[in-house]
Amino acid sequence: MSSERIVQGRSIVAGFAIGRLVALAGRTHDSFRLAITENKVGTEIVRLRMAVDKASTELERTRTHLTDSAGEELGAIFDAQHLLLRDPELQGRIETHIREHLVNSEWAVTETIGHHLEQFAALQSSHFRDRAGDLRDVGLALLRALTGDAPEAVKRLESAEPVVVLARDLTPSETIRLSRVGVIGLGLEVGGQTSHTAIIARSLGIPLVAGLARAAAAVPEASHAIVDGERGLVVLDPEPETLKRYGRQAAESDRRAATLVAAANVEAVTQDGVHIQLLANIDLPDELPDIAKYGAEGIGLYRSEFLFIERSPDLPTEDEQVQVLRDMLEAAAPGPTVVRTFDLGGRKLAREVIETHEDNPVLGLRGIRLTLHRRDIFKSQVRAILRAGAHGQLRVLLPMVTGVEEIDEFRQLVGECAAELEGEGQEFSTEFRLGAMVEVPSAALIADHLARRVDFLALGTNDLVQYALAVDRGNEHVAYLYEPLHPAILRMVRFVVDSARKGDVGVMICGEVAADPRATALMLGLGLRRLSVTPRAIPVIKRQVRSLVLDGLPAIAEQCLEAESAREVEAIMHNAGIVESPEAQ
Ligand code: PEP
Ligand code: MG
Repeated sequence: MSSERIVQGRSIVAGFAIGRLVALAGRTHDSFRLAITENKVGTEIVRLRMAVDKASTELERTRTHLTDSAGEELGAIFDAQHLLLRDPELQGRIETHIREHLVNSEWAVTETIGHHLEQFAALQSSHFRDRAGDLRDVGLALLRALTGDAPEAVKRLESAEPVVVLARDLTPSETIRLSRVGVIGLGLEVGGQTSHTAIIARSLGIPLVAGLARAAAAVPEASHAIVDGERGLVVLDPEPETLKRYGRQAAESDRRAATLVAAANVEAVTQDGVHIQLLANIDLPDELPDIAKYGAEGIGLYRSEFLFIERSPDLPTEDEQVQVLRDMLEAAAPGPTVVRTFDLGGRKLAREVIETHEDNPVLGLRGIRLTLHRRDIFKSQVRAILRAGAHGQLRVLLPMVTGVEEIDEFRQLVGECAAELEGEGQEFSTEFRLGAMVEVPSAALIADHLARRVDFLALGTNDLVQYALAVDRGNEHVAYLYEPLHPAILRMVRFVVDSARKGDVGVMICGEVAADPRATALMLGLGLRRLSVTPRAIPVIKRQVRSLVLDGLPAIAEQCLEAESAREVEAIMHNAGIVESPEAQ
């Protein structure tokens, strides 16, 4: 009898992946719940005790450092955490959790500490609130000590056979780690088109399906699965016939991609001779060879925060950042390199940087707000940018700008860093072009003012859609409302493009919509001439550009600006014959 089953979801990253199936059930922070057999309980308890020792040494080191640099009083803060970490009662409870629930140490720590935190939350006393902060830190220190560089579950995946992972959710850093151990396809319960996990999967060429119902919990391990990122479904325990059919489809899709890549170096020029600049969005230094491979003209967006996220819990050093930026400059030459300053916060893990709990982090300390708040960390980036800038034309882009003051403050910080470097006799340059991301409605609506403060504007539609339409970009329940072609967004794009033109500054778009060939004609019609997209999307966008006649697109864009809804925009584009049919892609 056939055991083949199909779980329907939504396509997030196209492509096919066929591999051994590993289901990761449940997750908080970096901890996975893994079932263990009874004879593994002893090993887990030893792991836990070793982690307590390791975390304790770490805490001791931090305490000494803080006492030396800031005095005994501050250092003493860590005494409370140390006591908690060594508390036999707490350790006993975690061990009991391992024994009774037969789970790995990471999960037992997460559950036990989570349970205590819930109890503290119910108490209205400031004493307990302080204790909760200490307890949370102790839990994180333990998890860090347990997981080391890679969570245990990730290590377990290392195998000669390709692996497909089903999970409830994954953070961007987990996705990066999974890709490093040979995971080739992902099925998630949650996530939207422009979530950072989706963006990373797209950069790494990992097909991803989201919106699967209770996928991780319901599926047994050790079977095989196919992630069909084209149709947005996962086939569990595929029949030999299904495997063969998918094998053929995957080969055909590889063949088509190879044909496109082979033409990567043709010019991105419309039928009527207008050059469109196609740049690369780079998330990880590993992607640098993709710039030449897919025919990008430079780096339009380097999401530098991923350097941070990958290093976590350590911070990247200034010298390391200089080296990474110099590698970027070299790979993008003779084209530009746009480095965006750390866009940490929100959903991008930053627990080493954000000390306070935020109920609504997406509206909290994120992007430029966070970096201006944590100058101790930001300064090392600004200094690295100025130092690397001595070796090539770096451009600098500020994320999450909401007003002109943030730009002024940034320039002030640059002045401070330059003075420091001067004093140290270091080689540096302050001759960079400065840009502001336009990804918050307030920035879009004052684009004319921004254009007087900066050298270029970069439309970040991933967030602009989220903030303008009040739709969380990672929330599958409202994914149907996430509409980059909503007339409200198009009107903002138009205003930003017009403001840049009037202010005589550059403008580009680097949100995911720029990588959608169905939207290319509209973007050009709205006046955009510079698009930055994930490198793998460049060949298909280039082909689309080469098929278009620019003359006539502004009139169609005008009609779209007057449309009542995204659906009407799509209908207008369809009737005008400017949308590439899905078969042609
Ligand atoms: C955007 O918001 O459109 C953008 C390019 O930035 P990110 O996806 O990193 O938030
Ligand atoms: Mg953004």
